[in-house]
Amino acid sequence: MLTQEGNRLHILIAGAGIGGLSAAIALRQAGHVVDVFESSRFAVELGAAIHLPPNVNGLLRRTGIQPEDFRCNDAEFVSVFDSQGNPVSSKDIRGLRELYPFPWQLSHRIDLHEALKAKATTLNDPGVPVTIHLRSKVVNCDPARPSLTLVDGTEVQGDLLIGADGAHSVLRSIIAREDIAAEPSGGSAFRFLIPISQVKANPETAALVQKEGELQFWDGQYRRLVIYPCRNNTELNFVCLHPDTESDGTSEGKSPYRYKDNLLRVFDEFSPAMKSLLAMADPDSIKLWRLLDRKALGTWVNGNSCLIGDAAHPFLPHQGQGGAQAIEDGVALGALLPLGTTREEIPERLQLYMQCRYKRATMVQNFSRQAAFKISAKDTVGGTSTDPLEFMRINFGHDAHDFATNMLRKHLANRTPNPSTLTTAFGPSMPLIPDTPGSQGLLGSPSQRTLEVRFRARRNYLETFLPRADSRITSRGGWAKGSWVIRRIQPGEWKGGREVILVGLCIFHALLSPDRDEPQDFSPVMFCDDAEFMIAAREELHLPVLLADMKENILGARYQMDLGRSGQTFMMIQANLAPVHMNGDGGKGALGNARVSMTTLKRDVLEAVLPGLAHVVGQLQGLDMKDVVLTRSGIMV
Ligand SMILES: Cc1cc2nc3c(=O)[nH]c(=O)nc-3n(C[C@H](O)[C@H](O)[C@H](O)COP(=O)(O)OP(=O)(O)OC[C@H]3O[C@@H](n4cnc5c(N)ncnc54)[C@H](O)[C@@H]3O)c2cc1C
Repeated sequence: MLTQEGNRLHILIAGAGIGGLSAAIALRQAGHVVDVFESSRFAVELGAAIHLPPNVNGLLRRTGIQPEDFRCNDAEFVSVFDSQGNPVSSKDIRGLRELYPFPWQLSHRIDLHEALKAKATTLNDPGVPVTIHLRSKVVNCDPARPSLTLVDGTEVQGDLLIGADGAHSVLRSIIAREDIAAEPSGGSAFRFLIPISQVKANPETAALVQKEGELQFWDGQYRRLVIYPCRNNTELNFVCLHPDTESDGTSEGKSPYRYKDNLLRVFDEFSPAMKSLLAMADPDSIKLWRLLDRKALGTWVNGNSCLIGDAAHPFLPHQGQGGAQAIEDGVALGALLPLGTTREEIPERLQLYMQCRYKRATMVQNFSRQAAFKISAKDTVGGTSTDPLEFMRINFGHDAHDFATNMLRKHLANRTPNPSTLTTAFGPSMPLIPDTPGSQGLLGSPSQRTLEVRFRARRNYLETFLPRADSRITSRGGWAKGSWVIRRIQPGEWKGGREVILVGLCIFHALLSPDRDEPQDFSPVMFCDDAEFMIAAREELHLPVLLADMKENILGARYQMDLGRSGQTFMMIQANLAPVHMNGDGGKGALGNARVSMTTLKRDVLEAVLPGLAHVVGQLQGLDMKDVVLTRSGIMV
């Protein structure tokens, strides 16, 4: 069923939690019409805090949600103590921005949920505001139609149905066609917050909150305290993990429920200072949360329906990734279902969703199990990993939007083969470029380059320029490096009569297929200013060379290269050729500042003014280049 606007899909989401709202925002921003059905009356989150690690921090920012706006503070230190407060390890993580494009921040859950709700429903953004139907418990669904049935018997039909109804999902068994319920993991957690001003005012506890942004892990026997600040370091969040046999079930749905004595009993072996801190908890605020786990489902998709978040994969909290993976699921759906996707294409796109999300979420789920505290002497999984940062590289170094965009691009490219008509009609041309260089060869060795401008960008986004869905960049973390190379090819190097200028994108450390051992530099696109050279490079060397008008300007130490077509500039490279001393990582090997800017024209305008180039320019526009510096210059100033 298409809505009036013709090509918009009508999307139904069961559950307005972190996952459901993230999917709603992503799909609204993709251009679709979204209805969310939430069983509760207020659609409010539970108290306590939540991590916004780099892997979702950037996703939120790209939807227009800035975590600083709802008082998130940075995670700055990770410290491990024994139960008596003796330090076991401490890491300063303020330098993590060198490895990941986005910060690791700590949020209050209510603040995050409010920000998601506001973004989904705002009238100020483009797209159709999401409708959230409160007191609308979903009790059944038909995955193929797809439709959902509310508790009052109302049936609602759409083009896509998303089950985001949490760990106790009703839709899970219908969509996944197997009924594996979430089970108690053996652990429970008391959760509450204490104002940091009170902790500081108490001489017995003040020393426990000396560092801002500190995540503290206190390990006792078969129990652990995880403590970290949120709301601009004004509130201290507690997750008090312990065997569920030592506390009384769960407070979910029961309120008020007092656990203070139970809490103090469970953590009685801890240091006097820590016990004083726990004793400051407001009894009415303490919630008890039974930690659920579940074997992975065989599938999360069925017909025009799918599961996301805890409904698909409930998480133990030990990596702070449950909410993050729910957000990643929602964002991936938005990337895989751009405007123009038809209802008939949805089942195929949901298979891509499985490819993008299943392996990753299941892997992070396993990390959470290994990072759990040891519940008893018999527990063989919990306590396997004792370093809270052990799985950070995989958890943090993934960008779900870029990854899904890449999968969709490769999927669509494979469906539309594009053989060259010139070759088939006229046969191969006379070779014009004598020594057949490889893709990298045309850009020459560093000494042959006129100018090179390096940058770093999101690794998963740079991977969208690689030839295969399984091509990878081998850099650590969420960043990867590349450069723009400007090279002059002399007439001797090819049979044309004049010098040719080549401007090429170069991606470092690319592993083009998993069976290639050695990463290499790879050039996905080059522009040149000579039509004959372009045809020769494409026909003879099968290289991705495109024709562009180039305008080079050198004024004193100021260099500028404009690339355009038909009078429309689409890219500009600027550099300061006067050598300067530069600090920091971005400054290593740098000769001076540089800047690369792309046209801001929108895709439909690009298609009108730069036909044939629009898809290339459009993808380059998304390349968010940071720390752009000049690293090579053969130009005398
Ligand atoms: C102790 C603890 C600590 C945690 N800490 C973190 C952390 O630091 N970082 C992190 O990323 N994650 C953390 N998590 C995990 C995180 O809270 C969840 O993974 C996340 O909330 C999942 O989002 P969701 O939208 O899938 O489900 P939920 O947030 O559970 O939302 C489900 C929504 O669906 C609604 N609903 C339920 N049934 C129906 C129905 N039949 N019809 C309509 N609506 C329905 C519910 O009312 C709710 O609003 C923690 C979890 C626990 C238990």
